[in-house]
Amino acid sequence: MGTSPRFKRILIKISGEALAGEGELGIDTNKTFSLAGQIKEVHDLGLEVAVVVGGGNMIRGETLAKSGMDRATADYMGMLGTIMNGLALQDACEKQGMFTRVLSAIEMKSVAEPYIRRRAVRHLEKNRVIIFAGGTGNPYFTTDTTASLRAVEVGCEVILKATKVDGVYTADPKKDPNAQRYLQVSFMESIKHRLKVMDSTALSLCMDNNMPIIVFDIFKAGNLRKLIDGEPIGTLISNTEEVILDGR
Ligand code: UDP
Repeated sequence: MGTSPRFKRILIKISGEALAGEGELGIDTNKTFSLAGQIKEVHDLGLEVAVVVGGGNMIRGETLAKSGMDRATADYMGMLGTIMNGLALQDACEKQGMFTRVLSAIEMKSVAEPYIRRRAVRHLEKNRVIIFAGGTGNPYFTTDTTASLRAVEVGCEVILKATKVDGVYTADPKKDPNAQRYLQVSFMESIKHRLKVMDSTALSLCMDNNMPIIVFDIFKAGNLRKLIDGEPIGTLISNTEEVILDGR
């Protein structure tokens, strides 16, 4: 191996739907296993890896609230969904030889450790992959905001937001043939133009704390490793004002 990796401590945000089959709910064990394989590739480089898992494949609070349920109750159910996902990802990671801990924002002592910041940092120092589950523990938030919060709290250098698309676009590429992909864009632009990156709470937290985000396609095998190796994968969102579009 030539150069050392460009980061030492990273946070990967994995949405719930990445753990499910195409257009399905629940958990697809093969998909979860292959996600864990990508995590292993970068963990093996010596990186300290924290993961935040979403819960959209189980329950989205907002959706249940629209059909009549109390919003806070629905959100708590959503958070419980993220804990199930966390356990599924833990299982897949451990089957591939990584040591892991699931840290939950909602106390559930028999299945996961409670989230304690200093403990989380210690796990990272001991090379355990930590999986943050239970969101922030508060309704009306998202797991994207959880990712921003935890990344800042435990001192990660970057958030890698794993998605199904290869970055952030000026418009929806499925609807607009002129949509262009950003190679680089600022937090301010993302908020102003309501680009579909993360919700504004998550983006503001990153902006105020200078926490860069890279949005990338995790479904292309080896992409996460390539990104860590410094290849220009995905879209970088940071406080740098200069906008760079993909000129292809
Ligand atoms: N949620 C919440 N507070 C949090 C994180 C999540 O209430 O801090 C709930 C919310 O109802 C959300 C659900 O958990 O819809 C699943 O999380 P999210 O939608 O962020 O998952 P993803 O889109 O990443 O799969």
